[in-house]
Amino acid sequence: MSDTKRVYRFGSDAGGADITEGASSMNYTLGGKGANLAEMCRIGLPVPGGYTITCQTCMEYSSAGNVWPEGALAEIEEATRDLEARMGKRLGDPQDPLLVSVRSGAPFSMPGMMDTVLNLGLTDASAEGLIAQTGDPHFVWDSYRRFIQMFSDVVMGVDGDLFENALTEKRLVAGVKTDAELSADELHELVGEFKRIFCEHVSGEEHPELIQNGAVAFPQDPSIQLKLAIEAVFGSWMNERACIYRKANGIPDDLGTAVNVQAMAYGNKGETSATGVAFTRNPANGARERYGDFLVNAQGEDVVAGIRNTVPIQKLAEYPALKQAADDLERIFQILENHFHDMCDIEFTIEQGKLWMLQTRVGKRTATAALRIAIEMVEEGLIDKETAVRRIDPAQLDQLLHPQFDTSAKVEVLARGLNASPGAAVGEVVFSSDDAVAAAAEGRPCILVRWETNPDDLKGMVAAEGILTSHGGKTSHAAVIARGMGAPCVCGVEAIHIDAVAKEARVAGTDVVLHEGDIISIDGTQGIVVLGAVPLVSVELTGDLETILTWADEIRLEAGSTHPYHVRVNADNPEDAELALGFGAEAIGLCRTEHMFLGDRKQLIQDFILSDDTRVREDVLDRLLAVQTEDFLKMFRVMDDREVVVRLIDPPLHEFLDAPRELEVYLTKREAAGAPEDELAELRARLRRIDGMAEMNPMLGLRGVRLSFVFPELPLMQVRAVASAAATLIRDEGLAPKPEVMVPLVALASEQVQMRAVCEQVIDEVAGEYGVALDIPVGTMLELPRACITADEIAQDADFFCFGTNDLTQTTFGFSRDDAESKFIPIYLHKKLLDVNPFETIDKGVLELVRMAVEKGRSVKADMHNGVCGEHGGDPASIKALFNVAGVDYVSCSPYRVPIARLAAAQAKLEAEAGAVHLDR
Ligand code: PEP
Ligand code: MG
Repeated sequence: MSDTKRVYRFGSDAGGADITEGASSMNYTLGGKGANLAEMCRIGLPVPGGYTITCQTCMEYSSAGNVWPEGALAEIEEATRDLEARMGKRLGDPQDPLLVSVRSGAPFSMPGMMDTVLNLGLTDASAEGLIAQTGDPHFVWDSYRRFIQMFSDVVMGVDGDLFENALTEKRLVAGVKTDAELSADELHELVGEFKRIFCEHVSGEEHPELIQNGAVAFPQDPSIQLKLAIEAVFGSWMNERACIYRKANGIPDDLGTAVNVQAMAYGNKGETSATGVAFTRNPANGARERYGDFLVNAQGEDVVAGIRNTVPIQKLAEYPALKQAADDLERIFQILENHFHDMCDIEFTIEQGKLWMLQTRVGKRTATAALRIAIEMVEEGLIDKETAVRRIDPAQLDQLLHPQFDTSAKVEVLARGLNASPGAAVGEVVFSSDDAVAAAAEGRPCILVRWETNPDDLKGMVAAEGILTSHGGKTSHAAVIARGMGAPCVCGVEAIHIDAVAKEARVAGTDVVLHEGDIISIDGTQGIVVLGAVPLVSVELTGDLETILTWADEIRLEAGSTHPYHVRVNADNPEDAELALGFGAEAIGLCRTEHMFLGDRKQLIQDFILSDDTRVREDVLDRLLAVQTEDFLKMFRVMDDREVVVRLIDPPLHEFLDAPRELEVYLTKREAAGAPEDELAELRARLRRIDGMAEMNPMLGLRGVRLSFVFPELPLMQVRAVASAAATLIRDEGLAPKPEVMVPLVALASEQVQMRAVCEQVIDEVAGEYGVALDIPVGTMLELPRACITADEIAQDADFFCFGTNDLTQTTFGFSRDDAESKFIPIYLHKKLLDVNPFETIDKGVLELVRMAVEKGRSVKADMHNGVCGEHGGDPASIKALFNVAGVDYVSCSPYRVPIARLAAAQAKLEAEAGAVHLDR
């Protein structure tokens, strides 16, 4: 037997003493569920006894091609015997049998993704024993038929519909509406029928251990049941829906799942029993109220499956037989919050009035709820502000910046449901996940409309803009998954009657019939459905979000700290600058000036590029100078005394020109139409010049600083515009603008030397003309590996460094971004050649170039200011690495990502202070 401990016990021994071996800190070993079951035992909560098989065992088992590691089965066997001794019952005992549940539990919660088997241990003999013990044949046959159904479906892969059909038929024949109304005898008959279905659909070749008297039989040996169930849970780690969920949520594939084997507690022992799921606070809006649902006389999955209509948790205490359990539950809610210092979700069962806790974990929540809960817990003294800031997922804030219905739009509500996940969405109705995937692939936004979703719908939920279900409560599958994904969801819209086969839905109380492709709008914040497209708007930063961001700013900008964590914005126009100031940007880290040459100015720049006539070019330059000066005046006014980094013209010039192919088509048409020869000559000359500008690889061609040496007038005009605008504001308006000029795509120190000299000459000229002092730094944009490698040389003549990590990623990898993202990065991700898209999250090679360049720059100028303005400046994982590993002073990102960057920057600082600096995510 190996030294590896594979099984951890939890609960009490036969004498009631706690023998728990795990703890909540062990979730990579025991999975979230196992670790917290252990923790609940440690703090004295009522948990049915059991044991947890480690995640590592699952990984070893799967990596070996579903072969058990040596000694594992023996250790499980020993833990099972021990559990029997502790519970004073034996599996399969014909007098008083022990029954167990077998549940998966990975290190990260993956709701509904993997498998669970309940009531394991029931056999023909033990069923009789249980009847003898409980005197309740109805309960026993109901449990046995559920077990056969679950075991067949989950463990043996028999089609679950076969059992559902048999059950429906039984109800019809018996003339009853619900399963609970079936008599004990009818349930007993059903057990026989279910066993027959099992035998007909399980292959004896694949499962020789199930052959009895020459044919497959439902296993009557609980140890065979248990082994097969554990193997099925291990196998479920790699099932398709679990793999999709992990990919969508960035959970690594190599963690494995633990398996929890636990004594059963029964919520289906009549009116004194119940089962439910609940949250200690409202996970949708964060309100300090209990939230959840329960069902009387029901078992486990009935609540989340959305099959029966559940009762709100607040009503639990109104059932006299459940009052004591309700009081205990309320007390436990408080204990859990005080212990975990967070909002928790739980699963519980009440068995004949006695409350049992089956699971707890820190509960998933919407961004709105996350903010509310964190702030309220600070107010209650449960956590400090740093913990509150650390606890909010920056990426989740995106949900709050999600569109909502425009309140000025007239909205006629078609149907109402539960507001299960906030945000609004508009799209075509689709009735299946495959149709959602197909619509999304064709670029058609869609709303997935389902009776209720199940784990197989995950791909459709990811593809759809929003989710609408006609059944299920706020803890149903659709609601939980949508909240986790940040997708809008309205569930339990009972007025909608779906016929998924005919691909239509009738809306009760109206004459509306929704067909596939019809446009609807849903608002998951309000829980409403509207026919047609409602205009959507973005929300503003107020209330709780503002509070958390203010706390984040206090942390990241704390006076006296050694290392600043500044956040700037990439903005090219006064509107974006204003928007970003509202979002808390401290300065402009990148103003891309080429955007100022678009629209009605495109003609000017085209004339400049295509004309050989010096007078035409001078005239164009004068006009461009006038409009650019006006642009900068507006920008600098908005930004007042905050820095504005203006990047000189960067893109290859063909980007400003007409597409040659279109011009060619136009020319041919004009030729065919017999246009005058001088017009045709002019068009031909233009086409020749445009063709002459074509480059084989424009990303590595005539662009960036290189343009400044081929067309020196252009960048110098820009520097003059920057300096003139600043001088005007200083002289005429008494403002203190802080423009900075940035030279893009520098590879050589000599490029920087010469550019800086000519820029400073223009700045001096303008200062003289206006009679003001101008201090305009000239810095370098580092976007090429050579620049990073020789950063110490470049630093001699650079006033600051800013890393263009978009180009630096392209040039480090030798990937052209557009081609890479459309042609092979998805395949690289799928084949795990890459863990993440390096254009979204900074790659460690690129990060190392930045780190090295920062270090080299500072070796020459100790106070060199370093920023990042590529898209990584708005990605939380990259932000943390850029600050803490590469040592930059600021990140700069698009306006809507500024709030996310502020929070991520504060978290980066807290991580650095705690010494937890990781290069990998
Ligand atoms: C960059 O390369 O990171 C950058 C910000 O410049 P652009 O995206 O404009 O090339
Ligand atoms: Mg660039």
